Amino acid sequence: MKRIYMDYNATTPLLPEVLDAMRPYFSENFSNPASAYQSAQVARNAVEEARIKIAQILNADSSEEIYFTSCGTESNNIVIKGVAFENWDKKGKIITTSIEHKAVLQPFEWLGRYGFEPVFLPVDKYGILNPDEIRKAIDKNTILVSVMWANNEVGTIQPIEEIARICKEYEVPFHTDAVQVGGKLKIDLKEMPVDFLSLSAHKFYGPKGVGVLYARKKARFQPLIHGGEHERKKRAGTLNTPGIVGCAKALEITTKEMELENKRLWHLSEKLINGVLERIPIAIFDGHREKRLANTVHLSFRGVEGESILLSLDLKGVEISSGSACSSADLQISHVLKAMNCDPIAAQGATRFSLGKYNTEDDIDYVLEILPPIIERLKTLSVL
Ligand code: PLP
Repeated sequence: MKRIYMDYNATTPLLPEVLDAMRPYFSENFSNPASAYQSAQVARNAVEEARIKIAQILNADSSEEIYFTSCGTESNNIVIKGVAFENWDKKGKIITTSIEHKAVLQPFEWLGRYGFEPVFLPVDKYGILNPDEIRKAIDKNTILVSVMWANNEVGTIQPIEEIARICKEYEVPFHTDAVQVGGKLKIDLKEMPVDFLSLSAHKFYGPKGVGVLYARKKARFQPLIHGGEHERKKRAGTLNTPGIVGCAKALEITTKEMELENKRLWHLSEKLINGVLERIPIAIFDGHREKRLANTVHLSFRGVEGESILLSLDLKGVEISSGSACSSADLQISHVLKAMNCDPIAAQGATRFSLGKYNTEDDIDYVLEILPPIIERLKTLSVL
């Protein structure tokens, strides 16, 4: 059976050109970039070229503002805890939203146990934060604001430039988790006054195990990992040369192809949304119809469990993600849908289709053919 992958927000396959760029640094150019001999210089040059390339793509002032980490989760943790450590003595307020990825929510909750004051701002029914909420929440004790650029579950895009400008006005450091935006939307750090930004290579057809942290030159944060001089003493540990080279190559390719690919994905995703809503009366579209990532389609089916839909589609060769996690008899709904005030019964039937480079019109036609009978059958079996 043909497998159809529709879970590109979870991870993406490595592009062949990216693998080709990485290959020499696993074998013939394997040296530690921190060593002193000539072959290490080759590895060091490759890392620095990757850093320059990423800085240019993001329109950063300097490649010195780019730090390599192990993943998006680590980049987020460095910023949130690193800024908190910088303010450890005086503590302070840290502001985020209630729809962030756990890689932001959990560091915020953790810091709450050590005397910081975490604030989780509400969003509207589309999953969008009103920038006025930031204005209202900021006070003289605020040490950090962190708002994700685009949501991983529903794909909603935040008014990030406006939020960044408000933080600049109040001189509060601003971080954005842009893990779902890298390779999908244009990031211009000259236009966008963010102080910190997180990316993850495996979300844009690069390798797993490589994250990027952008930190504006004047932005202050303490390192989390000590043990060497790497990354200008902000993140110790031997650099992952092949991964870093692959990350830069993947960002270069996806940025170049972004406009055309977004048009194609928008067409496919609209076809999927309209097709499902026409064929399945209990289907509900979640999120914002226009202010969303072109690849992300979030649909709930009232009265059917999302996990059952995922498993049934998997048996037919289609791989998606469900928005609910089944723990014993208890179906827990996503914190994102909860924050959007979605109908809790419908939220138990949440599914996420995230499309990507290798999806075609035929894939959408196939889903539109197999999904209605799956939902019809599950409806009769459901306990909801
Ligand atoms: N932030 C967002 C919005 C994400 O979607 C993810 C991964 O799904 C992460 C952070 C974590 O990234 P990583 O898998 O690189 O740790």
